[in-house]
Amino acid sequence: MSNFRFQALQAVLDRSIPEIKLPSNKISDYFNSNVFDKQKMKEFLSKDAYQVIVSSIEKSEPIPRDMADQVASAMKAWAISKGATHYTHWFQPLTGTTAEKHDAFFEPTPDGGAIEVFSGDALAQQEPDASSFPSGGLRNTFEARGYTAWDPSSPAFIMGRTLCIPTVFVSYTGEALDYKVPLLKALNALDRAAVDVCHYFDKSIEKVNASLGIEQEYFLVDIALFNARPDLYLTGRTLFGHMSAKNQQLEDHYFGSIPERVYAYMQDLETEALQLGIPLKTRHNEVAPSQFECAPIYEEINLAIDHNQLLMDLMDRVAKRHNFKVLLHEKPYAGVNGSGKHNNWSMITNTGRNLLSPGKTPKNNLMFLTFFVNTIRAVYEHADLLRASIASVNNDHRLGANEAPPAIISIFLGTQLSDVLDEIETSRISKKIKDDALLWQGIPKIPQILKDNTDRNRTSPFAFTGNKFELRAVGSSANSAYPMTILNMIMAEQLKKFKYDVDRILRKGEKKDVAILMVIKRYIKESKNIRFEGNGYSPEWEEEAEARGLSNFKTTPKALDALLAEKSAILFEDTAVFSQREAHARHEVLLESFYKKLQIEARVIGELVTNVIIPTAIAYQSNLIENVKGLKDIGLDSGTYAAQLDIISKISEHVNFIKSNVGYMIAERKQANGIEDIREKAIAYDEKVKAFFQPIRYHVDKLEQLIDDSLWPLPKFRELLFIK
Ligand code: ADP
Ligand code: MG
Repeated sequence: MSNFRFQALQAVLDRSIPEIKLPSNKISDYFNSNVFDKQKMKEFLSKDAYQVIVSSIEKSEPIPRDMADQVASAMKAWAISKGATHYTHWFQPLTGTTAEKHDAFFEPTPDGGAIEVFSGDALAQQEPDASSFPSGGLRNTFEARGYTAWDPSSPAFIMGRTLCIPTVFVSYTGEALDYKVPLLKALNALDRAAVDVCHYFDKSIEKVNASLGIEQEYFLVDIALFNARPDLYLTGRTLFGHMSAKNQQLEDHYFGSIPERVYAYMQDLETEALQLGIPLKTRHNEVAPSQFECAPIYEEINLAIDHNQLLMDLMDRVAKRHNFKVLLHEKPYAGVNGSGKHNNWSMITNTGRNLLSPGKTPKNNLMFLTFFVNTIRAVYEHADLLRASIASVNNDHRLGANEAPPAIISIFLGTQLSDVLDEIETSRISKKIKDDALLWQGIPKIPQILKDNTDRNRTSPFAFTGNKFELRAVGSSANSAYPMTILNMIMAEQLKKFKYDVDRILRKGEKKDVAILMVIKRYIKESKNIRFEGNGYSPEWEEEAEARGLSNFKTTPKALDALLAEKSAILFEDTAVFSQREAHARHEVLLESFYKKLQIEARVIGELVTNVIIPTAIAYQSNLIENVKGLKDIGLDSGTYAAQLDIISKISEHVNFIKSNVGYMIAERKQANGIEDIREKAIAYDEKVKAFFQPIRYHVDKLEQLIDDSLWPLPKFRELLFIK
């Protein structure tokens, strides 16, 4: 019988491409059709109720309790009309994925019948047994209570036959157990701080929202090949595998024509996503073979993040129908590019103004410069915290691996804006300006269309791209809520400081615009070290960054220290986003997930090597030994089997190395498991256990090259990456 690998390859060759029927030729016919949006509210609610709800949503206030029953019954009527039988609170626990527990609408009646029920209480709040979600010690297992509460700013939707209600997830003592609560708090803090600063320029501004557009990278692999790789299905990445002879060196995949089977998948995915209100707009091949990207049009940030979480779930579900597996891991294959999730972020006022968009007039540009320079100042001040917010065991493979932004946080502005800032920094604005005309001449001209919009410095972790900043260092599988919570929170704190600094100068009788420019100028000077326009992949940058005093945390356990830093504690308190307890809890959850994932990888390596790789090597070696014996028996001299002898001894060398190093790795793992302190434990896993992965892999990959192809049991890189 052929081995699992060849059965899988046969299965791939037998696949046919499903035909995709779109619901309509016009996307507008089905966009949002599975979402309880304002239009459906209008249809299913009384006029009064509708108005109350819409105004609560717009003001980000809770829906009045007495309205909840009405809304619930409207939702139920709509959901049942769409074929839904169940409902669930849909939330984002600290596992990083989404969670749901379905309840049927139906309830039996005393007369033996049944009715469909969905009360305001069931809509507003639920108590999932929360003991098995990570809480970092916030909730003891015997105190398993936590509750989910409706977040009306994100609309309910139908997935399959279930009505899903986006909710927050908190403990009974009020601490956040999810990603959404801190995000909403950070957005609230940003809103207040940004509106205050906006009032220097425009008193009519009442609200500032953050916007986010998330570019999502991913790999596709045939499900049969995936299932033949235990490392892939247990850890999400390949732990072994020699590089394919052809990989991405011809640079022929990026923006290339999309393979037909993938095209069918994308259309199917897009149709479902659009029905769920996810405004997917862009699709293309990425740099690595079998790597792709999709991106929606940007939205209000809380919704954008819910949509991205939903999208990741959907990608996986739709992939199954196409016999694909979607790999969201940051580094599924060594040697080819990994995957990220670019977070395009900006701030937009209720009057429709993008605060990161340069304006036509000098006055508008002063407003732009205010928000622009404050962003730079915020990232400069809290670069370590931003680094911590993207740290994970998976992302450690990417950051600093010369294909993704480095672990050093820096900001790329493009030459034009760099020059503008340099000009302000060196001009003597504060002294000479007494009248308006001179002030406005003091602000350098900013072209509305920036030349280097397209000057994509892909090596920068945080880049300005025309009218938004792009945080590129987020991992492809991450929940963006976490880095975005940090970004919005540090921005909120920074804007508060800015207002304080400007007001202080105003009190001395300085003119407002002069005061603003003086503070901007000071910030430009203070935060200069974080600006970097060069190649972030180069070794010279590492040296220079060190000389500039910028941090370079290459791996997660130490990067996470920033969460507990004094400076962060002040920030958390000031913005009221995290309590000390919550910050510690998060730190612990992240460390725990870090070392547990390495623990699983180490075990998988041990098992595969012992039960699959070494037996295969020995079987092939035995074949060769038989062959050598035969050649000897028929009287040939040793020159005729020199090659065989060479391979036989090489196999032994590799097998011996692998066997002994797996032993050492297991010993280190045992040591690490005995460490009480969770940070020390994570560091031990990072530095002691993980250290064996690469050397073991090297020898396994050597065996892969030596051994008869027909005996090798694991699908090879060339097959995983190229056969569809
Ligand atoms: P790329 O960086 O690959 O060229 P695009 O320029 O098309 O991609 O934009 C990437 C993402 O940025 C998209 O999701 C887009 O909607 C989003 N985006 C564009 N403008 C803004 C903005 N002002 N604020 C936030 N996101 C934005
Ligand atoms: Mg981009």
